[in-house]
Amino acid sequence: MRVRIEATADRQFGTNSYLVEDEDTKDAVVIDANLEPHLMIELVRDRQAEVKAILLTHTDIDHVAGLPALLAAFGRIPVAVHDAEREFVAEGKPMRREFGASLDAMENVESLVEGETYRAGSLAFEVMHTPGHSPGGVSLKIGDNIFTGDALFAGSIGRSDFANSNGKALLEGIRAKLLSQPDEHVVYSGHGPATTIGRERRTNPFLT
Ligand SMILES: [Zn+2]
Repeated sequence: MRVRIEATADRQFGTNSYLVEDEDTKDAVVIDANLEPHLMIELVRDRQAEVKAILLTHTDIDHVAGLPALLAAFGRIPVAVHDAEREFVAEGKPMRREFGASLDAMENVESLVEGETYRAGSLAFEVMHTPGHSPGGVSLKIGDNIFTGDALFAGSIGRSDFANSNGKALLEGIRAKLLSQPDEHVVYSGHGPATTIGRERRTNPFLT
């Protein structure tokens, strides 16, 4: 399989949405739904990709706000999220005590389960639960590529100062599940540029 990855970022929070595409079949998923969904919709049209599902690394507003527009454009495809944050998508409850409600309730919500494979068309993602920034944070691995949401960034890690954050769990998950991956694996974060596991293991000031 030849996997092609392209990011769009919104201007307000610099939140990345990723189009992950199997170049042979054109099957694709979108990972996270940032505040400027039109950028992703244009990208999908340019690529003539067939989006099979939307996968969420977590449900902070800047990662889910674009969902209604993406679903309107791509049809009633599944939205996949970890069960610990399911109600924020399926029932539209607010994920953070600090902020208001983010979304209307959605149908067709599927589960991203630790240790299991999530399949969408010809694509298959290994699901790793990496909580701590938020309770249902996940990292998603396909081939040599890992989407880490707001757990791990190039040179930084996610905030853990929210009421439902857990800084210890965040560090433990990053160490056990991400830094244990091969050096050359590419890290695609929720914000900012891509990096590699090896570079973060050696130079990330929060982890060294
Ligand atoms: Zn974020």
